[in-house]
Amino acid sequence: MRIVLVGPPGAGKGTQAALLAKTLSIPHVSTGDLFRANISQGTELGLAAKSIMESGKLVPDEVTIGMAKDRLAQPDAAGGFLLDGFPRNVAQAAALDEILAEWGIELDGVLDLEVPEDEVVRRIAGRRVCRNDNAHIFHVEYHPPVAEGVCDECGGQLYQRADDAEDKVRVRLEVYHTETEPIIEYYQKQDLVTTISALGTVDEVTRRAIEALRKNETQRKNDDEG
Ligand code: AMP
Repeated sequence: MRIVLVGPPGAGKGTQAALLAKTLSIPHVSTGDLFRANISQGTELGLAAKSIMESGKLVPDEVTIGMAKDRLAQPDAAGGFLLDGFPRNVAQAAALDEILAEWGIELDGVLDLEVPEDEVVRRIAGRRVCRNDNAHIFHVEYHPPVAEGVCDECGGQLYQRADDAEDKVRVRLEVYHTETEPIIEYYQKQDLVTTISALGTVDEVTRRAIEALRKNETQRKNDDEG
């Protein structure tokens, strides 16, 4: 399956993407994680992205699209992928369509995670991620680690992302509404979007997401056959 996950910051995209990717046996491709890996490795791309990311704004499309294309061209993504945090505006969505068309493939679905804004702020303020692997995500209240500040998965140190500070969260929400939300309409025109509520426990949302994706897959198969 080739899936795009959309939703405001704090919707739980990273958490859900990791779980869904595991369940569906496809790689989780997060442009945010790719940028953060470049920053910790001190690459040129990382240096270019660092201050923009910390401000909560978007890294320029030329950089982001090239990085995403390189990642999707890796052999492990040949059989499918789950995109998290990309595309983040209509230009990126159009570029992704072009890339996939060039490769003779297309998206199977876009999963839109819906969550009220006050909940978004609560979730982000309490979010802590693992320094060793940003895929390990905790929350001081909703999903606390057994030992405070320590990752349950690998013992790494937990920290609060610089762009999770409240003033940066406001910028990110604004960017989401103006830049990213229009991609939902873009994909609705291709009949790809399924919206689910991202409220409830992590497991509940995962179950809802899997159910929605399977339903979407069956529907598309039936449409193809009919
Ligand atoms: P995320 O981990 O998805 O919340 O991304 C963190 C930050 O990385 C964003 O606020 C942006 O600064 C940058 N970023 C991640 N993905 C993209 C993208 N597709 N386009 C532009 N900037 C991005």
